[in-house]
Amino acid sequence: ENNDLDTVVATRVLVIGATGFIGRFVAEASVKSGRPTYALVRPTTKSSKPKVVQSLIDSGIQVVYGCMHDHNSLVKALKQVDVVICTVGGYGILDQVKIVDAIKEVGTVKRFLPSEFGHDVDRADPVEPALSFYIDKRKVRRAVEEAKIPYTYICCNSIAGWPYYYHTHPTELPPPKEQFEIYGDGSVKAFFVTGDDIGAYTMKAVDDPRTLNKSIHFRPPKNFLCLNELAGIWENKIQKSLPRVFVSAEDLVRIAEANFMPSSIVAALTHDIFINGCQFKFPIEEPHHVEACELYPDLKYTTMDDFFEGYL
Ligand code: NDP
Repeated sequence: ENNDLDTVVATRVLVIGATGFIGRFVAEASVKSGRPTYALVRPTTKSSKPKVVQSLIDSGIQVVYGCMHDHNSLVKALKQVDVVICTVGGYGILDQVKIVDAIKEVGTVKRFLPSEFGHDVDRADPVEPALSFYIDKRKVRRAVEEAKIPYTYICCNSIAGWPYYYHTHPTELPPPKEQFEIYGDGSVKAFFVTGDDIGAYTMKAVDDPRTLNKSIHFRPPKNFLCLNELAGIWENKIQKSLPRVFVSAEDLVRIAEANFMPSSIVAALTHDIFINGCQFKFPIEEPHHVEACELYPDLKYTTMDDFFEGYL
């Protein structure tokens, strides 16, 4: 896994948000890549999520206690590492400017990956309330750029799983057993990437000069699928066809407009992905954009066919 590290000093990585949904995949992939890995964990999380914290420690991650809002703890953690990956969730997005300030102060961090892990927020234009969420992510990007902090923006597209329109972490649920909810006519394609592969590609990009000050898009060609195709893959596995219930563009917009958090954000993003086609509407053009499978052809990503096998 870490052949490329044999001859160079391993990059030390700090993950802020390692006890979260995306953060665990990233932190574990970091350890697996052979890089010394630290996690900034809030002291309260030690008691609220003891098993999660213990599993980070057991996998070889060095847990340091602190918080984004506690400047001294942040500075102390930053001094130990080369790269900072942030995976805080919805409510913490704008607070990342505190990390930007601390990175600026410390002056030794070689790269920052802010909490992105979705779409290209500068180019996608979802309905509210997802738009406000993107505006916050854009503000963080601008703060990073203004501070002249070297960065990489991870645009990983959809995490593999059935994309339930009401669930922030769809992968935590198995694919449907009774019926499929199909958005629009089910013909708009999206890219699906497993959590492990999101972690693995992120760790490839983390200190690669080719991703410096760029957005990296994860577009695994075999996982470029519309809902009708995804449903077919699952039906093939379970040897059964399931009825389809159609959820229209208007239905999704109505749920988004209800402004009920966080499900309205998920509905708005579902609308952007499966109605607007936000994941493929724009080209990946140099110099600011690169594609993960082209940069790392040796990384054998998991296909949705293989991924669904795990749910049988
Ligand atoms: P979670 O809410 O699951 O996790 C957030 C993490 O941040 C937790 O570890 C939390 O700690 C930590 N955290 C929160 N506040 C602080 C703080 N003040 N100091 C230190 N740590 C803090 O987030 P998600 O994994 O859902 O989201 C992460 C990113 O991934 C977001 O940008 C989101 O948009 C994106 N995402 C992308 C998906 C996709 O399909 N591409 C799917 C889901 C998310 P604690 O455990 O203590 O709460």
